[in-house]
Amino acid sequence: TRQPPSQTNTPSLEILRNIFGHEKFLPFQEDIIEHILQGKDALVVLPTGGGKSLCYQLPACTFNGLTVVVSPLIALMQDQVMQLQRREIRAAFLNHTVEEEDYITTMQEVRSGEIKLLYIAPETLVQRPEIHVMLHDSNVACLAIDEAHCVSQWGHDFRPTYRELGWVREQFPDAVCIALTATATPQVRADITESLNIPEDNHFIDSFNRENLFLSVESRFELLGQTLAFLKKHANESGIIYCQRRKHVDWLCEQLGTHGISSLPYHAGLNPEVRKQNQDAFINGNIDVIVATIAFGMGIDKPDVRVVLHAWLPKDMESYYQEIGRSGRDGERAECLLLFSLDDEDTITEFIDDGHPSQREHRIESLQKFIAWANSTECRREELLTYFGEEYATQNCGMCDNCRKAKAEQVDLTTSAQKFLSCLYWVNESNTKEVFDEAYLIGTLRSENTCISICLPAGALYIIDILRGETQEKIIKNKHHELSTWEIGMEYSKAQWYYLALQFFQYNLFECDAQDGSLHLTDKGRKINTKTIAPDDRFWGFPVDLVDMDSEN
Ligand code: ADP
Ligand code: ZN
Repeated sequence: TRQPPSQTNTPSLEILRNIFGHEKFLPFQEDIIEHILQGKDALVVLPTGGGKSLCYQLPACTFNGLTVVVSPLIALMQDQVMQLQRREIRAAFLNHTVEEEDYITTMQEVRSGEIKLLYIAPETLVQRPEIHVMLHDSNVACLAIDEAHCVSQWGHDFRPTYRELGWVREQFPDAVCIALTATATPQVRADITESLNIPEDNHFIDSFNRENLFLSVESRFELLGQTLAFLKKHANESGIIYCQRRKHVDWLCEQLGTHGISSLPYHAGLNPEVRKQNQDAFINGNIDVIVATIAFGMGIDKPDVRVVLHAWLPKDMESYYQEIGRSGRDGERAECLLLFSLDDEDTITEFIDDGHPSQREHRIESLQKFIAWANSTECRREELLTYFGEEYATQNCGMCDNCRKAKAEQVDLTTSAQKFLSCLYWVNESNTKEVFDEAYLIGTLRSENTCISICLPAGALYIIDILRGETQEKIIKNKHHELSTWEIGMEYSKAQWYYLALQFFQYNLFECDAQDGSLHLTDKGRKINTKTIAPDDRFWGFPVDLVDMDSEN
């Protein structure tokens, strides 16, 4: 066994308080730090925001030698170095963006032992011979490998250079090695273990369960409408909306602006200054919503993000988990909604094709797994945790759409569905023009303990008006007050019908033509809309115990 690296005997808690300004350790930190100080290697798997950095930063302050931090994220290393310098800890970074002059100065400072923490990009570490010489001449006490999942080709962000870190590690047998990541499936963990030689009894793995995040998935039929409906539930709260492409970001952000939602865009196509400004505006709470590509979020530490909306399918479970993990850091409830359509699969496959060919098969497989998750009717949380190799025993998490559905008492809504569908059928049969338009009803329905976002094609409202026996001009002009279905839905209020129609729509009993907004029965709808309906075809849904509707046409 290795001797602990030479170190001062200042108690960790004292350093935590005096230098880092934190009152107490977060769960896990104390054990990990103690372990590192004893000179034992560690693999640390903690969710984003779990406080991983401190696990090497604090020992680095105690060790007399140098701590080398390998990090693939250049923006992030810059950030961390700045934060450390503010705490008067001598830190520096080296990567390909560093100017020659600064590069040389930093190397001198490392050699003279002034620098406590050296952040370095994997390429710089592996490929630059002068770095090797420098490190061999320095007293390396600790080698910290951030984003350690990059070692594994089963991970979501494989970086071939990371493979060589095993060899680098062997060059410094006396240094303690700590590998850190926020996401690691059992397979990835095994890879890290092997390439860095960190045996299992040195693994610190926290639960991935974030109980305060409500997870739900909806199919995407009207992006803007669904987004507005969702944001309406969270008025004046902080939210992140992830889009797949820059042009989607720009478009959606502009649309939100015209609907009175304070939002700014964030993507790699914006100039760095604007990006920084927009990010700061979000962090400081000057705007509610940031609409972004996946470029946004690394190192963002805003505790009160209440909403993460994925407007498109993320590329895999790891990305999804990391992105939703940016909400609810303060432990309060946050809501994460994923909107997806099967078209997303094509776009992602395109992205995958652009990537490394050796990764292709594996990435497609990960994508398929994620799609299966999105389509599943089982507990979202349980399946997500299972994916990360964690057992989750609860029968009903109560914090995902599927569990909530299972819990709510479903009722037989076949008769209501038949009324709605046959009215729709007869309106279509009557061959009148201009019944439908492309608008959507957007709003929220509230009952005592739920708040449901509604986004319904305008045609559904027209059908509801007929069912409710209304006599506006359009109905009279089209003679729809003469239909047998006129006034047969008086048992429910308008808001209650909205909720029913939403369920019929979500369960695909009817569909909306994207071109002209016309509504049509689907095969499923037609099966329900017959007198001789088979018992298995009856429609079960949620009762309409709603009290209030708040809408906008
Ligand atoms: P990770 O790398 O796991 O995503 P970070 O190391 O960036 O997490 O830490 C997340 C946040 O938690 C940072 O703002 C950090 O200052 C804060 N933090 C870390 N340790 C503590 C602590 N012991 N007490 C309070 N806040 C802490
Ligand atoms: Zn659940």
